[in-house]
Amino acid sequence: MTITVAIVGSGPAGFYTADALVDGGCDVQVDIIERLPTPYGLIRGGVAPDHQTTKKVARKYEQTARFDAVRYFGNVEVNKDVSLVELREMYDAVVLAVGAPGDRKLTIPGADKEGVHGSAAFVGWYNGHPDFSDLAPDLNTATAVVIGNGNVALDCARVLVRSREGMAHADIAAHAMELIAASPLADVYMTGRRGPLEAKFTNVELRELGELEQAVPLARAEQLPDSVPDDMDPRDRRLTERNLASLREYAGNDPAAKPKRIHFEFFAQPVEILGDDRVEAVKFERTNVVDGRARGTGELFEIPCGLVIAAIGYRSDPVEGAPFDDKAGIIPNDDGRVDDGLYAVGWIKRGPTGVISSNRPDGVTVAEYIRADFKEIAHGPAHGRPGRAALAPLLKERGVRVVTFEDWKKIEAAEIARAEGSVRPREKFVTVPEMLKVLDA
Ligand SMILES: Cc1cc2nc3c(=O)[nH]c(=O)nc-3n(C[C@H](O)[C@H](O)[C@H](O)COP(=O)(O)OP(=O)(O)OC[C@H]3O[C@@H](n4cnc5c(N)ncnc54)[C@H](O)[C@@H]3O)c2cc1C
Repeated sequence: MTITVAIVGSGPAGFYTADALVDGGCDVQVDIIERLPTPYGLIRGGVAPDHQTTKKVARKYEQTARFDAVRYFGNVEVNKDVSLVELREMYDAVVLAVGAPGDRKLTIPGADKEGVHGSAAFVGWYNGHPDFSDLAPDLNTATAVVIGNGNVALDCARVLVRSREGMAHADIAAHAMELIAASPLADVYMTGRRGPLEAKFTNVELRELGELEQAVPLARAEQLPDSVPDDMDPRDRRLTERNLASLREYAGNDPAAKPKRIHFEFFAQPVEILGDDRVEAVKFERTNVVDGRARGTGELFEIPCGLVIAAIGYRSDPVEGAPFDDKAGIIPNDDGRVDDGLYAVGWIKRGPTGVISSNRPDGVTVAEYIRADFKEIAHGPAHGRPGRAALAPLLKERGVRVVTFEDWKKIEAAEIARAEGSVRPREKFVTVPEMLKVLDA
């Protein structure tokens, strides 16, 4: 008989799980339930708009969505339109793949001032995520500070200084491109508590800053160590050496070479956001790093600025009906198993780290567990739960406007049509009503 599986969330973790289930050689029916009309999670709403090659992974997910066994239920939010408890009654297995949509909060005094944004909100805004499309950050400032030393921080800094021409092939939301193009922003400070040895950038992203059309990256030679410690893991060592080489190159750059600058400021721990209602400066304490940890030196300094992006990590929200480890910010699980018939994959399972492909093994493992846990259904006469035969009528009865995968393709076609006449891949709709209107037309 058929194992019925509901996957909550259509990001990489959800799609890898669906793919592994369909690929597993037993009879399954897989429903992917997504709160937005649009699929693919952070591939659409997180990955930078000028990184279209990375976003191509969605083509693989599209193949998965088109399997006969798979159905996409877009615009359906779990615990709003249907509860997790109900889903568990309707399906043999429920897989939570809801990601980590929120920001880890900056907790220094003044962090709630106007002009201070978390990276989840800022990235969501420039990527046209409906939750953040009305953020409208005030970019009428000459200087911005980005707090954080990872790839998301680099994305934010880079997008802030890119020109319209540089973004010609990107699917940045039109509202964001307008504000960025009109902004007088000339200096972006990339700040990190620790040093270049501890920074989490990948080298491809770091090097990209050296090729920007109107901004030059600058590092301070005195902040760069001469070499990498011998005891570093060989893989980390190679990456760190490459990063140091790039930063050394940036230390030799001419600040006047281009109209905008990205400054690397290491050993800088933010201690307070200064200003009245709006941010006017960030106060930092200089640090040194001992055994990999930043220690304050007592020396304070300020960077005047009108915009702060805190890119210090993401955080999951609890899912009603499932346990939650508030400290770790994940659903507690044993290698993906949460409870009988309940599983977790991706960032909600592991926390918000790793690249797109890091989510694949989660899906493969959980698919194996589901096949093992329901083998009487897969290989015997036992009947399982009804799955979509129960969900579809329930959603209809509740008046939920389900967006199917074919509907999504219509929305996508309309986005592509809106970009016609340019080299942009699409002109995104940034609100749910706009997306649904396409389907009414
Ligand atoms: C800004 C940023 C840039 C990144 N860039 C790269 C990159 O360039 N390369 C790379 O390899 N990795 C990148 N990553 C990492 C990569 O995006 C993640 O590893 C991956 O998206 C995590 O997958 P996920 O499926 O766990 O979560 P997500 O991708 O967040 O997907 C979760 C999905 O669940 C949905 N959902 C949430 N709650 C509900 C609910 N109640 N009901 C229904 N649906 C729900 C969400 O709408 C979303 O679609 C980036 C991450 C970020 C934050």
